[in-house]
Amino acid sequence: MKLLLVSSEIFPFSKTGGLADVAGALPKALQKSGIDVKLISPKYRCVTEKDFSLKLVNQDLDVPIKDTIESFALWKADYNGIEAYFIEKDAYYDREGLYGTEEKDYEDNAERFAFFCRAVIEYCKQIGYKPDIIHCNDWQSGLIPAYLKTLYKDDPFFHHTKTIFTIHNIGYQGLFDPISLPMTGLPQSVYNMEELEFYGKISYLKAGIVFSDIINTVSKTYAEEIQTKDYGAGLDGILRKRGKDLYGIMNGIDYEKWNPKKDPLIYANYTPKKISARKINKKNLQKEMKLTYRDYPLIGIISRLAKQKGIDIVIPAMQTLLKKYRMEFIILGKGDKQYEKAVQEISQSYKNKVSVKIGFDEALAHKIYASCDFFLTPSLYEPCGLGPLIAYRYGAIPIVRATGGLKDSVKNYNLKKKEGTGFSFRAYTKDALCNTIEKALYLYNNDEKTLNKMVKQDMKMDWSWEEQAKKYIRLYKKAIKK
Ligand code: ADP
Repeated sequence: MKLLLVSSEIFPFSKTGGLADVAGALPKALQKSGIDVKLISPKYRCVTEKDFSLKLVNQDLDVPIKDTIESFALWKADYNGIEAYFIEKDAYYDREGLYGTEEKDYEDNAERFAFFCRAVIEYCKQIGYKPDIIHCNDWQSGLIPAYLKTLYKDDPFFHHTKTIFTIHNIGYQGLFDPISLPMTGLPQSVYNMEELEFYGKISYLKAGIVFSDIINTVSKTYAEEIQTKDYGAGLDGILRKRGKDLYGIMNGIDYEKWNPKKDPLIYANYTPKKISARKINKKNLQKEMKLTYRDYPLIGIISRLAKQKGIDIVIPAMQTLLKKYRMEFIILGKGDKQYEKAVQEISQSYKNKVSVKIGFDEALAHKIYASCDFFLTPSLYEPCGLGPLIAYRYGAIPIVRATGGLKDSVKNYNLKKKEGTGFSFRAYTKDALCNTIEKALYLYNNDEKTLNKMVKQDMKMDWSWEEQAKKYIRLYKKAIKK
């Protein structure tokens, strides 16, 4: 099976979020299972020839766009034995950010990613590479299925090529003024409610949903939720219409990168057999983060500080709990200024019980996973949620709101049966969060034996990409049969 995976970010070449992790890890697992995978992405400023030993493949490929023909260059890297291609068009991609600055999105994103989609298709044709599957991800590659089903419909070159479209987060839709439509080269007829039109805009995400052969998202529950009004962000109707082609496959995590046995970024390595070393990590981190060392239950949060992540209920819950209980929090995150300010304020009020680091810090994240007793993800909505999966691997017990992927990955602890993998709650309220954290604190303070059993059991669970890649292969086969 020949598979082309298209992503606007791929770790380690470029990254703003979880999409990059998936696009970097899934292909490695697919290749191990015998799939012939190639990757393609824009050549941003951070994708340098030097850092990634890029080789120029072709200097002069063409893309029809905006009534003219524009050219681009194609670069190639060897990524763990996988061919990774990069589309070079400096006017579009040689910039500091991937999609925008700290303040706002780039104004020509409609053009930048229409060009990218068209260039991917033209690369296949002009190089003579006929993939069985083009696997597109999120709005940035949403126009590819639309082009294939309209402009290239009668092109025999693509007659056996099928498309899969993965939605990583329905909150990001690639919405643009319809004035951009002629620039894309798509026929004006696609500007209707059943196709690209979305409340007076054109939606690149909707293009992917409408025109791909199969759609999937990153957990089973999120696949159901996005078909409802509450979670569908306006696209629930069209998703229900495509319901029989919509699947959910949980993301995995990279078990080489996230491995407490060998992780060079943590203070002391450990395995499920020797979880006592977690205490060494905790002690050192408490010192580093200026918390006085005590054996209080430590709750960790590593998150984008955005509304989606539940910070609105975290702040009032912390205020209530910190007054009443012996406990500590470590928060690592960045995002909306209002949330950054709110978590900083609470750390000022509880100096030796709450430590906050604003920023993106990979090394600190590893230490937090290895040290905290509980890992908190009380999201308003959550397509998959990688944090709790990493927490399992490091023996930090997750506390989550039962939504999207979090509902699928965490089995709520049953006090009577002493069973479960973490703690979860349903209502998006401060009180529900407080009650659930109280349950976790009770277990920590009163039943160390069960707590340790849970830690060991969680560490042994398998959330590796190997398992999830098998499910993707089944989906690709389904698409080919269509
Ligand atoms: P999302 O993709 O919506 O941001 P996920 O939980 O699926 O959320 O993935 C987030 C990933 O990014 C996790 O690997 C988490 O450890 C990491 N992460 C989030 N914020 C930070 C941060 N401030 N510093 C380091 N890593 C972070």
